[in-house]
Amino acid sequence: MADIAMEVGQEGEKEVVSRNFIEQIIEKDIEEGKCKKVVTRFPPEPNGYLHIGHAKSILLNYGLAKKYGGQFNLRFDDTNPTKEKIEFVDSIKEDVQWIGGDFEDRLFYASNYFDAMYEAAVTLIKKGKAYVCELSAEEIREYRGTLTQPGKNSPYRERSIEENLDLFTRMKNGEFEDGSKVLRAKIDMASPNINMRDPVIYRVAHMNHHNTGDKWCVYPMYDFAHPIEDAIEGVTHSICTLEFEDHRPLYDWVVTELAYENPPKQIEFAKLYLTNVITGKRYIKKLVEEGIVDGWDDPRLVSIAALRRRGFTPESIRMFMDLVGVSKSNSSVDYAMLEYCIREDLKLKKNRIMAVLDPIKMVITNYPEGQIEYMDVPNNQENPELGARKVPFSRELYIDRADFMIEPPRKYFRLYPGNEVRLMNAYFVTCQDYITDEKGKVTEVHCTYDPETRSGSGFTGRKVKGTIHWVNAETAVEAEVRLYENIVDEEKGVYNEDGSLNLNPNSLTVLEKCYIEPSVKGAKAYDSFQFLRHGYFCTDVKDSTEEHLVFNRIVSQKSSYKPA
Ligand code: ATP
Ligand code: MG
Repeated sequence: MADIAMEVGQEGEKEVVSRNFIEQIIEKDIEEGKCKKVVTRFPPEPNGYLHIGHAKSILLNYGLAKKYGGQFNLRFDDTNPTKEKIEFVDSIKEDVQWIGGDFEDRLFYASNYFDAMYEAAVTLIKKGKAYVCELSAEEIREYRGTLTQPGKNSPYRERSIEENLDLFTRMKNGEFEDGSKVLRAKIDMASPNINMRDPVIYRVAHMNHHNTGDKWCVYPMYDFAHPIEDAIEGVTHSICTLEFEDHRPLYDWVVTELAYENPPKQIEFAKLYLTNVITGKRYIKKLVEEGIVDGWDDPRLVSIAALRRRGFTPESIRMFMDLVGVSKSNSSVDYAMLEYCIREDLKLKKNRIMAVLDPIKMVITNYPEGQIEYMDVPNNQENPELGARKVPFSRELYIDRADFMIEPPRKYFRLYPGNEVRLMNAYFVTCQDYITDEKGKVTEVHCTYDPETRSGSGFTGRKVKGTIHWVNAETAVEAEVRLYENIVDEEKGVYNEDGSLNLNPNSLTVLEKCYIEPSVKGAKAYDSFQFLRHGYFCTDVKDSTEEHLVFNRIVSQKSSYKPA
């Protein structure tokens, strides 16, 4: 569903306010007095790291609570003891906070509600709305029917309330084997919605739970547990993704049968999908376990931890989510849009400095040996508030290999024998000569400079077409720089026909000996910079040290994406 835009007169000014469909529902509920205080939640299952899709859910839920002066809960949906790990709980808390989902002291665990859920099941039994069934899993499937055929009633459906109560108590007490009995809601085996055909709501499982230990031998199913969790916390709007749309009648059935006073309302929206990235936990886990990536926070991944390590900011991710909007239909968003957002966010905030990633030496033959001068350079041409710095310049510099060619093609305005270019923030230089090694690879470029052309001197004598960056050799900081491409091949798609991942062999390029101007010294984890003409870079949190700086390219300089 598209956003609607309406114009609101505000003290003579016209302000355009656009509301997504969820906001429309919430405002209607408030108007009609159905909702006094908006309460939303983000309910992750602690079975992996959060990714960009979860960020959307967090920001949506948090944003709604904030917009309507309500509350936002973080709730671990830890009702399924097999898959959960405590190690994920900490990473999730950190990621939710980092992205801006401030849950304050409202941190909850669904497993703390096991008693209430058990009581709720007993309530249903007493109302004649639930029964203990002894069909095997396979039989239950057979009895369920299909999309075109109604199901059949279970032979255990008409048990007496007393018998059901006794059996369910004994299930809880651990008297029965896993899989031998389940508790089912008694709804309608002929319902056109298969989720309503007496769904299983409790199962026997002798499992150890990380929070409740061995206390429970029965565990609730998701569709039964989730509405109860929401109701207990006073959640007013339970926002989930589209695949739960067909489960909503069951959600409503549970909260109605249990007669909650202000029952929560489920609202579905479309998941966020990004082109050419992997978000499935299953696949990321495989990449991590096979050592194809450097952990869950490898900068090529789009887990929140990976985005943070790569150098994305919470602001850029929030901007991205605002651009993407909230919708009712599934679609993929171009990764370039996320790149656009980080460029926009960093553009005015970060120093623009010179870095040579693939160095060749440049010698300025007519510049006095042993002399060094300092160029005054603004830190960010578009933002004077960032101040200025002094950049050393002398006879020997490094330039990037791509800025010199022996035999240039047409329209190549950078350095080649006989050509004059501007050294950014410094002088005009003319290439006089070059040196190659035995394989013909250029090792040195020799130039002369024109002292009249010093940057800032007001020289207008002549113009040159090319400007290149450089780094003074003697004072340069040596660093490692990592460049990234998509981890899967764009052209061929994410998955091969056999379901394996279609990996891009060039997803990581490590440049071990780059030279950066000395202002980069002392860069700390997560500090980021614009390296002029190369893009935005972030100091790596895992591998960068004072002696050996390591930078991750967040995004290249140029954008292929333009917002509508
Ligand atoms: P995945 O299988 O991708 O890890 P999940 O749905 O199993 O995701 P949960 O921990 O169950 O992960 O999800 C927590 C919340 O995040 C749920 O409300 C879910 O709907 C939401 N969510 C998960 N993936 C996305 C996505 N791609 N876009 C938006 N919301 C998402
Ligand atoms: Mg899940």
